[in-house]
Amino acid sequence: MLKEIGAGLALGILAGLFALGFNVYPFLLLIGLFFLLTRVADIKGNKQFVPVSNSKANTRISFEDIGGQNTAKRELLEALDFLKVPEKMSSLGIRPLKGILLVGPPGTGKTLLAKAAAYYTDSLFLSAAGSEFIEMYAGVGAQRIRQLFNQARNSGKKSNKKSAIIFIDEIDILGAKRGSGSSSHLEHEQTLNQLLVEMDGLSFNDEIKILLIGATNRADLLDNALLRPGRFDRIVQVELPDQEGRLQILQLHTRNKPLADDVCLENIARETFGFSGAHLESLANEAAIIALREKKKFLENRHFSEAIDKVIMGEKIDRRPDKEEFWRIAVHETGHAVVSECIRSCSVSTITIIPRGKAMGYIRQTPSKDSYISTREDIEEQIAILLGGAISEEEILGSRSTGSSGDFQQAVELAKKIISAGMSSLGIVSVADLPSGVLYDSLKEILNAQEQRVRSIIRKYRSMIENVARYLLEKEKISGAYLRNILKEHEQRSRNEVC
Ligand code: ATP
Repeated sequence: MLKEIGAGLALGILAGLFALGFNVYPFLLLIGLFFLLTRVADIKGNKQFVPVSNSKANTRISFEDIGGQNTAKRELLEALDFLKVPEKMSSLGIRPLKGILLVGPPGTGKTLLAKAAAYYTDSLFLSAAGSEFIEMYAGVGAQRIRQLFNQARNSGKKSNKKSAIIFIDEIDILGAKRGSGSSSHLEHEQTLNQLLVEMDGLSFNDEIKILLIGATNRADLLDNALLRPGRFDRIVQVELPDQEGRLQILQLHTRNKPLADDVCLENIARETFGFSGAHLESLANEAAIIALREKKKFLENRHFSEAIDKVIMGEKIDRRPDKEEFWRIAVHETGHAVVSECIRSCSVSTITIIPRGKAMGYIRQTPSKDSYISTREDIEEQIAILLGGAISEEEILGSRSTGSSGDFQQAVELAKKIISAGMSSLGIVSVADLPSGVLYDSLKEILNAQEQRVRSIIRKYRSMIENVARYLLEKEKISGAYLRNILKEHEQRSRNEVC
């Protein structure tokens, strides 16, 4: 403000002098230079750095507001005793814990856990992102680190807190391995060194006890100095939620939403393997938006089903293929679905030919359980389902199309997985060291076997696939239950014919 008044005054005086016939150009040049220098000083002096969010609303998140993540919560709670009951820790001679590193995929609740830690320990909560410490001026990042820790101490005192939690998200940006080829490595090293210095300076006797919580998706990028004991003492894995965790997260995010009687959160949790907490939050939100669009008072099961499709595949798109292409897509998707049901009964949840994102159609499968490892049979089943689309097109329409190239790429990757896991006829081998001819033959053997398996399924159900595809063309989306009924009828008819 003062600067603006000064600038106004100076311009006024200069205008007066100009009117009296003085040469004001040298003065103008000097004033311009002065403002340029103060601007640079402002940036370097870091006056614009506001990395801290300390709103009370932000920190009022408790561990009960976080679904699943029981292991992460348990480990974190144990580590937080140092802030909660410091006397107990010091009486046993336990040194203070200086840092906790939360490691896990995006959207799994790392920020929520840090906020809940602050609420649980009644600590001041300050947060910043690693990218906020990266500047091209040497020394600015280090200064920001100092500011952050000083602010924790000062604001902690002002708000009568005994402790403060500093949360640095994307800490891999600021704490990446030194000498890893960054262009401004001097600045990076100074920033990281300052962080190490601040962490080393933390002590039990500090008036405000500070705990640093870092979050990253890439712990492998972090400098070893950060990971050594005495700095980030605890590394807590924050994984994608399991079925039970997904159910809890869905319950949390639907507690303020009116649900119709047909909504079964257990089923939704089962269908959403691989979803993070952020995906599930978005799913509940999207379901509510769809219900609102339809002017419904309650969120129904189909709203959730559509929201799952949207979260997985993206928004519906306007691009409409012509009639012939639509028929091909229907045949392709029905082929996938029938092979899936024949190989893994009750595995299809929905079949649709409504274009979304990059897909012109797709089938959504319901896993019977969360699984984290696969046998050769599991992978072969996946390959067969992937080939179902192309072979259905070939058998029914007489040719394949480019719509199958993504399926083939995935099928080849899966076949490579069989080889690299030592489950192929080659035994234990390194895929990278295999002569290309040997790798080709082995891939061909795996893929050909599945192609034959799929072809015989498609030939057996050919007329049924055509019927279902026709129905799909009319409705654009059909449920797995509908497909299973048709399959059952088909089986019944075949049995009667044999009798
Ligand atoms: P990133 O690595 O991308 O920074 P993150 O792991 O820090 O992500 P959060 O920011 O904590 O993820 O979560 C994003 C949103 O997802 C939260 O605001 C919340 O709505 C939802 N969410 C994530 N995990 C959970 C969970 N376990 N329980 C409830 N909600 C969750």
